[in-house]
Amino acid sequence: MSKFQCTNCGACCLNISMVPEMQDFVLPSGRCKNLDKDNKTCMIYDNRPILCRVDDLGNYLRLGSSWTALMHVTCNTLHEKVYGVPQEPLDQKCQHES
Ligand code: SF4
Ligand code: SF4
Repeated sequence: MSKFQCTNCGACCLNISMVPEMQDFVLPSGRCKNLDKDNKTCMIYDNRPILCRVDDLGNYLRLGSSWTALMHVTCNTLHEKVYGVPQEPLDQKCQHES
């Protein structure tokens, strides 16, 4: 399976309210309490839950390359929700600020 390319946009971490397994982390705004003030950096990165580990979760679910394709569609949708424009190309880091 190809490795997932994260553009570090932070959009997923700003929108966890709809994820039942993440309710212990969610703030009233919908963001994760472990997201740093820059809205890009996970403060518990090395110990983040498996739902936040895209490659590990894809391997666990055994979805193969369709998993990374699905994730990129999801990420683009979240990016458009947060920043109002499509996600950057996958070889670029996100420069948007929320
Ligand atoms: S929405 Fe996708 S690209 Fe953006 S930080 Fe989350 S996993 Fe990475
Ligand atoms: S635990 Fe870290 S990676 Fe997971 S949603 Fe929170 S800030 Fe994002």
